[in-house]
Amino acid sequence: MSKIIDGKAHAAAIKKEITEDAAMFYMTNKVIPHLVVLIIGEDPASEVYVRNKHKACEDVGFKSTILRHPANETEENLLMAIEGLNNNPEVHGILVQLPLPRHLDEKKILLAIDPKKDVDSFHPYNVGRLMIGDYDFAPCTPAGIMEMLKREEIEIEGKECVVIGRSNIVGKPIAQFLTQANGTVTVCHSKTRNLSEVCRRADILVCAIGKPKFVTGDYIKPGAAVIDVGINRLDGKLCGDVDYDVAKDIAGYITPVPGGCGPMTIAMLLQNTLKAAKLQMK
Ligand code: NDP
Repeated sequence: MSKIIDGKAHAAAIKKEITEDAAMFYMTNKVIPHLVVLIIGEDPASEVYVRNKHKACEDVGFKSTILRHPANETEENLLMAIEGLNNNPEVHGILVQLPLPRHLDEKKILLAIDPKKDVDSFHPYNVGRLMIGDYDFAPCTPAGIMEMLKREEIEIEGKECVVIGRSNIVGKPIAQFLTQANGTVTVCHSKTRNLSEVCRRADILVCAIGKPKFVTGDYIKPGAAVIDVGINRLDGKLCGDVDYDVAKDIAGYITPVPGGCGPMTIAMLLQNTLKAAKLQMK
């Protein structure tokens, strides 16, 4: 039976630390960190994510603004809105909720955000800084995973780490973080051969695929730490990429879905927003 990594509890502890830190920051600078989230269209999943972010900001005493744009918003208008936020000294973090409607060029939109306010850390400037290990903002989901591993005292140095998925927002950056922490990292994807065999080597297995219960018992080395990033809906219920009921009897540690990586991602977003506010004071 594995130890369940309680992402919700870790996130609550981090939020408490952030609340205290933000209060100190306010006492010295009279500045309240302010996150602005732009949502374009009415994707129901995005609505939930945006609401959760808004509530989390309120919980820690930040200011939070949601800017809603219609699904048929023009690129020009959206770029103008971002430019306005870039130039507004009372806005510290800017986040454009993805995915965008098809007619909008995601790369162009993300590139328009001032890297100093890019609290998601998706701007190529920040991605580049991550590659060289000298960054201000860590991308939120991978940073949340690293924080959970640290708080659970799971050793990374010298360990076999396998990441399934190579997306820009999860797979690639978590592979980079694990490498920087001296893990030996293998990145797998849809063209990987003998996937279960490769995964069975892992002391730390990160699953970021987007396929419900894809990772079954034969992917998991007994005692491994299994980090399930996936958020999927199956028969009306949320589930991860890992077949949790089977995996929990094999793994040494496991993150649940919901209640694992999700809350940690939001905690890291708050951390980045506070950091952005501090950096902009300098
Ligand atoms: P992407 O769709 O961008 O990437 C999925 C990756 O999985 C790709 O690299 C793809 O390979 C790989 N993959 C797909 N099928 C297979 C397969 N059969 N075998 C091996 N690899 C496969 O997804 P994201 O990284 O954005 O997200 C992954 C999951 O994590 C989703 O469920 C998403 O909702 C969730 N998520 C959760 C977050 C949280 O806060 N908890 C935050 C972000 C995402 P290839 O490159 O070859 O196509």
